[in-house]
Amino acid sequence: MDKNIIEFAKTREGYQFFLEKVMADLPQTLGKIGDRVLVVNPVIIHESKRTVISNFTNIANTLNREPEHLARFILKESAKAGTIQGERLLIQGRVTNEELRKLLELYVKEFVKCPVCGGLDTRIVAEKRFRFLLCEVCGAKSAIRKI
Ligand SMILES: [Zn+2]
Repeated sequence: MDKNIIEFAKTREGYQFFLEKVMADLPQTLGKIGDRVLVVNPVIIHESKRTVISNFTNIANTLNREPEHLARFILKESAKAGTIQGERLLIQGRVTNEELRKLLELYVKEFVKCPVCGGLDTRIVAEKRFRFLLCEVCGAKSAIRKI
C-alpha cells in the first residue's frame, strides 16, 4: 500500500474516511419476505461540501420507486438541498453513512413495505389529493403521506 495512504489512514479524517468507505460497501438488507430479500448497496462518497450517492437510481430501481420520490424523501428528512444528476444523487452538505442507511430503512418502512402483510411488492397510487400504498400480495390499500 502507498505510504501516503497509510499515513492518511492514521489521521482522524483518514480513519473516518476508510471506516465510512467500508460501511458504505456493506450491502444493506431492507426487508425480507419468503425467499425475497431486498438488498441495496449504496455507494456513498463524501466530498468536502457535498455527499454523493453514486448508484442512486439503481437503489431506487431496486426499491421499485421513482428516483425523484426517494430523493425528495432523503432531502426532506435530512433537511438538505440536492439534485439527481444521471445515476447519482448530489446532496449539499454532509450526511453520514449511518444517517443515509437509517433514511433508506425509514423509506422502505413508510413507502415500500405493506403495513398489513409486510409484502414488498407494492406500488404507490394517487387518488385525488391522496396517496396510497397498494399491496400486490394481500391487496391492502394503506394511506401514505405525500412527499
Ligand atoms: Zn400486503
